[in-house]
Amino acid sequence: MTSSLPSSINEFMTWTWDQIRPYADELAARPLTAESVDGWMADWTLLQSLIGEAYNRLEVHTTTDTDDEAGHTRYSAYSEQIMPHARELDNRLKEKLLASGLVPEGMAVPLRRMRAEAEVFRAENMPLRTEIDKLNAEYSKIRGALTIEWDGEELTFPQTVAKLGDPDRAVRERAWRAAVGGALKSREAINAVWSAQLDLREQMARNAGFDNYRAYRWKELARFDYTPEDCASFHNAIEEVVVPVMRRLNERRRESMGLDTLRVWDAFWFISPDPKNRPALKPFESIDELKTHTQQIFDRVDPDLGGYFKIMRDEGLLDLESRKHKASGGYMTEFSFSRRPFIFTNAVGIHDDVQTLLHEGGHAFHYFEASHLPYFQQRELTGIPMEFVEVGSIAKELLGAPYLTRDQGGFYSEVDAGRARAEQLTGSLAFWPYMAVVDAFQHWIYAHPAEAHDPDRCDDAWAGLIQRFLPDFDWTGIEDGMRMYWRLQGHILQDPFYYVEYGMSQLGAVQIWRNALQDQAGAVRDYRRALSLGGTASLPDLFAAAGVKFAFDADTLRGAVELMEATINRLDAE
Ligand SMILES: [Zn+2]
Repeated sequence: MTSSLPSSINEFMTWTWDQIRPYADELAARPLTAESVDGWMADWTLLQSLIGEAYNRLEVHTTTDTDDEAGHTRYSAYSEQIMPHARELDNRLKEKLLASGLVPEGMAVPLRRMRAEAEVFRAENMPLRTEIDKLNAEYSKIRGALTIEWDGEELTFPQTVAKLGDPDRAVRERAWRAAVGGALKSREAINAVWSAQLDLREQMARNAGFDNYRAYRWKELARFDYTPEDCASFHNAIEEVVVPVMRRLNERRRESMGLDTLRVWDAFWFISPDPKNRPALKPFESIDELKTHTQQIFDRVDPDLGGYFKIMRDEGLLDLESRKHKASGGYMTEFSFSRRPFIFTNAVGIHDDVQTLLHEGGHAFHYFEASHLPYFQQRELTGIPMEFVEVGSIAKELLGAPYLTRDQGGFYSEVDAGRARAEQLTGSLAFWPYMAVVDAFQHWIYAHPAEAHDPDRCDDAWAGLIQRFLPDFDWTGIEDGMRMYWRLQGHILQDPFYYVEYGMSQLGAVQIWRNALQDQAGAVRDYRRALSLGGTASLPDLFAAAGVKFAFDADTLRGAVELMEATINRLDAE
């Protein structure tokens, strides 16, 4: 069949489902045997790659040119006319492969994931899922409507939160009070969404034969290699190892800022103003400079990784500058048929832009390194465990950090590079305790679903965790804002349990960086080997291939945290 599918993505993008259907039907009907399965997988991959790339290209266009009506229309048409058929086909072929009992080479791990998805799937849960989607949309709407009056201007919630990095303490305090004050007005509305979601999730778990939602969700998220108990031990390790380090760093911050007590607007979760009140870093003026210096950093980490970035520059796979008629945010996406990644950011000349490009660059290299694998389930990032996907990107930030200075091809003077690195490492350390709050809160919720229907009990549980993991803050007079804040951590409502992955990835990435301090070439070789496995290996095997441990006990964490604190201390002293 492959010979008659278009060989150009541009031609395929004009195809209707009626044109695609014969290929879909043929795949669904073709007998599967040990002899035929490889060819069948290759043909499925080809069709899926064409559909996936067409969809992603149309979607990308809606973000790079938000004003192009025709582009939006093409995207909506594709979403409505092609994608539902494509998803349905994907399901049918998945079931067919599972039913065959065949395991093509390198597919044992992807098949385990597919089998878990099939095991939790219940047709009777489909309408419940639709209900949850509606509640998620309702929540997004409530969040989107949270606008804040600011000097005659109307700010969005994220714009207000961004002011928590302002050098002026009065501005930061005002931003916190305005943001949380606005959100407090939506407390009842979010409570209603929350309560309904909780019921639906419990019901879905029961329908699928599970005692509780956590056990159901564990399987749905394909968490084969760690248990809820491992998460609890990770929380304990964070309390034992990270909280005391944060106490020292927070105390230094308080002194350096000349404050009596540290308030949440002096170090908001993991976003913080500069403790020495210096003006913001200015790494570059033009996008060309951003590309050139980033290229030089990647080249120094590894010439092949630099080569990938060069391909992205040469082939127009980077859209980096902030401009009118462009969507907000940043992402990396995949063009599966062309086997190329694409990076989108909104760079304006601040350090965060550098950090974001190093991060998304890590995701892009992951895609390049895995793109040799034959089947889409093995090489696409969606097939790779999220606990490892972010290792690829966070490690890239850490591996690139030593080259931020101008004499290494980077952006900064020695002093500014030190400041940028200290800020990054402090933010990473501060992330773990906040992550523990978010994760432990959800473990409490789904272990106590009846109590969790009472929003006051949720507030109590959240406040207890804030005291346990973030004990350095003075909440006098703003207790209400602190207690209600879990409603503003969207993952809790929209993506249950999905958060600890970042903390696990970060621990893997710091271990890679630690290896690189001993032997950069060796550490990068292991890192690349792990990336090149794509989704064909289990989590512990991916971590092992990268030369690091998949473990979340206090000793493993301590090894990472001691290096981070020592590095921060050295950089601060310089
Ligand atoms: Zn990422």
